[in-house]
Amino acid sequence: MLTRFKSFIFLFFMLSAFTVHPMAGNIRIGLLSLERSFSLTVNICEGEYEMLAGRKYTSLKKNDNILIVKAGNKVLVTTLSGSTLVADSIRLQAGGPESCFSVRNNLREGSPRKYYGHLTVMSDIESLMAVNSIDTESYLAGVVQAEAGFKGNLEYFKAQAMLARTYLYMNINRHIRDGYNLCDKIHCQAYHGRSEVGVIYDAVNATRDLVLADADSFLVFAPFHSNCGGQTESSENVWLASMQHLSGVIDPYCAFSRNAHWKKEIGMEEWISYMGEHGYRHMNNDDLVFKQLSRKRNYTAGNFSFPLIKIREDWGLMSTFFSVSLGNNSILLNGRGYGHGVGLCQEGARVMSERGFTMEEIIGFYFRGLKIIDVKDVRPSVEISTAF
Ligand SMILES: [Zn+2]
Ligand SMILES: [Zn+2]
Repeated sequence: MLTRFKSFIFLFFMLSAFTVHPMAGNIRIGLLSLERSFSLTVNICEGEYEMLAGRKYTSLKKNDNILIVKAGNKVLVTTLSGSTLVADSIRLQAGGPESCFSVRNNLREGSPRKYYGHLTVMSDIESLMAVNSIDTESYLAGVVQAEAGFKGNLEYFKAQAMLARTYLYMNINRHIRDGYNLCDKIHCQAYHGRSEVGVIYDAVNATRDLVLADADSFLVFAPFHSNCGGQTESSENVWLASMQHLSGVIDPYCAFSRNAHWKKEIGMEEWISYMGEHGYRHMNNDDLVFKQLSRKRNYTAGNFSFPLIKIREDWGLMSTFFSVSLGNNSILLNGRGYGHGVGLCQEGARVMSERGFTMEEIIGFYFRGLKIIDVKDVRPSVEISTAF
């Protein structure tokens, strides 16, 4: 019986794994950025909500507050009127698309974030768990603002909306065992609640249902970064896997942007000692000089060679795209760009859009051989079908 039950569960997951459209147009986002919350305050900032806790319904209107506290494996809810009740979970059902709530972890600093859609709060093993159920396009607007910033014009945000939507559908079942689709942290895509920027909603609507796919209509991994430093990185230099659409391109657009250049000075002894830990034998200082005019995979000093990606990680550098020169008893790193460098360069894409390039041209410049298709037409990708 148990085996049959397991088979049923497996079949259910397999079927849901091949379902690209989430049910009823809503997706569930785990608000993990609330960080180990035991006490939450929820405020209704716009519209109305219907609160269901246990079997009791309560109507909430603008400016109403409720306090939710973890009580063992249940939640204790206190409303503005002072009435309290204990339930397995609490659900706030939005009265309409404009309904909005904010939620704050009472044990943390910072201003509360505002969300459209519904909210469910339950007791997890160690803390409260909050899930925002929201329509796809409103969620994507929130992601685009969190990942791409407030500033930019329509074509730039359209490109970012496409990447966010492609990621969403590729990873739609990533947290299904946790009871939601994706989390709100960079583990999935950053989502800090609703977007406040009109042009971002325009961009999301203008690209509604569109995603990036390869020639066979499989969704593709389409990463981005802040600034490539003038040349994007090939995927195999960062993640080992070589992907045709992620081979490096020369980027003339991002050279004068905020994150185009960086510098760092490291003590000579410290540098020699660090390299020594990885097998380098110091002969003379001139060996340490290293030029990187176009992107390389390794730092070389004399006969010694070491992955740049490891150096970036160990020293917390902005990028792997740097040259090394000698300073006064120190070495000087002169770097370009910010981020892993693979895929779309955000600062370059922003400049392209300002110069009149369209979203299609921006995507075509940073990703090779891809097509833009309706999500209905994608084929179940390996990533989706093996999510379990
Ligand atoms: Zn996640
Ligand atoms: Zn760039």
